[in-house]
Amino acid sequence: MNNPTCHLCTHDGGEILASNAVLRIIAPDEPEFPGLVRVVWNLHIGEMTDLSPQHRSALMQVVCQVEQLIRDVLNPHKINLASFGNFVPHLHWHIIPRWEDDSYFPESIWGKKLREIPADLLKERHQQAQDLYEAIRSFDFKSKYNA
Ligand SMILES: [Zn+2]
Repeated sequence: MNNPTCHLCTHDGGEILASNAVLRIIAPDEPEFPGLVRVVWNLHIGEMTDLSPQHRSALMQVVCQVEQLIRDVLNPHKINLASFGNFVPHLHWHIIPRWEDDSYFPESIWGKKLREIPADLLKERHQQAQDLYEAIRSFDFKSKYNA
């Protein structure tokens, strides 16, 4: 059940774009990373292997659907998928569009910053991210992937 000391139990973690009975898809406030989306399991669970096979499958189908929407709308150079939980041990996946000219490429976004992205380009990508968020809001996650 919910853990009162866990940030993802006590907060949404960002703007909720879509949700179903078991998970939520959020747009976190990440100014450097436009289009970064997180899929958060609602219950306080630490590892993928804590989930039933059915729930594992439902979670990964949603992660892959979000990845597809990012590709369709943003057409990035690469997508990074990550699940750590080292700081917040509550199961969540990061789905991160990457461009060769972003500030960290080819490092991970948690790696060494290699360059500054021009402000106008960053602004353009934030505007494109709004289209992505709208596509996620419009997608029927409830009936397609309700576990
Ligand atoms: Zn939690």
